Amino acid sequence: MGLLEQIKDAGIIGAGGAGFPTHAKLTSEAEYILLNGAECEPLLRVDQQLMAMYPDEIIRGFEAAGRLVGAKKALIGIKKKHKEVIELLKERIQALSMGDYVGVHELPDIYPAGDEQVLVYELTGRVVPETGIPIQVGCVVVNSETALNIYKASQGQPVTEKYITVAGDIPNRLTVKVPVGTPIMDVLKLSGIEDFSDYAVIDGGPMMGPVMADIGGFVTKKNKGFVILKKDHFLIRKKSVTMEQAKRVNKATCEQCRMCTDMCPRYLLGHNMQPHKMMRVMNYSIDDLEGQKIAQLCCQCNMCELFACPAGLHPKMANLYFKEKLAEQNIRYKPEKTEFEARSVRPLRLVPSKRLIARLGLRSFDLPAPMTESGLVPQTIRIATRQHVGAPAEPIVSAGAQVQAGQMIGRIPEGSLGAAIHASISGTVSEVTADYIEIRRN
Ligand code: SF4
Ligand code: SF4
Repeated sequence: MGLLEQIKDAGIIGAGGAGFPTHAKLTSEAEYILLNGAECEPLLRVDQQLMAMYPDEIIRGFEAAGRLVGAKKALIGIKKKHKEVIELLKERIQALSMGDYVGVHELPDIYPAGDEQVLVYELTGRVVPETGIPIQVGCVVVNSETALNIYKASQGQPVTEKYITVAGDIPNRLTVKVPVGTPIMDVLKLSGIEDFSDYAVIDGGPMMGPVMADIGGFVTKKNKGFVILKKDHFLIRKKSVTMEQAKRVNKATCEQCRMCTDMCPRYLLGHNMQPHKMMRVMNYSIDDLEGQKIAQLCCQCNMCELFACPAGLHPKMANLYFKEKLAEQNIRYKPEKTEFEARSVRPLRLVPSKRLIARLGLRSFDLPAPMTESGLVPQTIRIATRQHVGAPAEPIVSAGAQVQAGQMIGRIPEGSLGAAIHASISGTVSEVTADYIEIRRN
């Protein structure tokens, strides 16, 4: 079996974002393959530790992915501040005789260095066009954990485990490896907190992650971290605002200072994203269809809303409002050109992570979250059939079946984009629904 088939069979999806199936991404032909090791979300500590713990596996998986897409160069993007990891990666690349192909590129410690389009620009100087994806400028991007999974797939191992950082206003900050499908509550309790009634949990990083409405779910291949904060923390209050509340506040107080636009990472890359204009449309000309369309250029990084706006308004939510409205009507923004250049002021407007962390009120929680043996042995796990972009996996086991850890239990429906799912523990299938497959440990 070729590597692409092995990746498909292993159920690999992008471990750092929306969960796009990796085998589909790697069918492209590209000039560059880029490893996203930026991990720019404050407090998350997965990728930097994986690169330190498994450098050979990650380099090998990354190199193999690069050969698959025919890339002439493979570049690892990692923040300059991770000096020891950078030295280690460089040494291992030489030891593996891959120095002619794989290089390490140091990134500034800014937010959002890990945004795919920012990463492409930082590593290659190329700007992905508006509404575009990296392959349009000859690049394919994979995350560090994805590269590790590609290596494991080449050894016949499917994705059954997930690395997760548990961080925030908690006694124990840590990073753990848990079986996919583990109850999220079991992971959250590793924080040292038992009663969550005074706490809220952010699914993912503090900038882009949403506040979880329900913490009774199960780990998926997309989870990267849980940030636990008191319910009255600034971030939780800000992220819990409803669309109606945001619209009301936005109307009352936007002073059109355009700080949101001046600091928008996509605007700085030369795109037409201008959140202050969205505020104007929302407040004064809500039916201006042309004006609404630029909302589709927003990557929802939250820089405008959580850092830039001096009045504490919700420009990202204004974008989101119009994005959803346009999607309902199937209306798309059409770029007026195909080539873009970053704005000349960009270097002066980059936001250092430390300043961002201070603004978010997270300085006292910006501490190590070391990789720790969790000791978690979940008795029951639930593997979601939909944890990736595309069609849900089709169950291929029935209730009562005995399964082994690593066994495929759901396949990609014929002719669809999707990802296979696997049992993450050995046991008995206790329930099969369209949404999940439940397994009880024997
Ligand atoms: S949303 Fe905030 S930053 Fe943007 S123009 Fe209005 S007041 Fe200024
Ligand atoms: S969330 Fe705000 S800063 Fe980020 S891309 Fe969208 S408009 Fe720009």
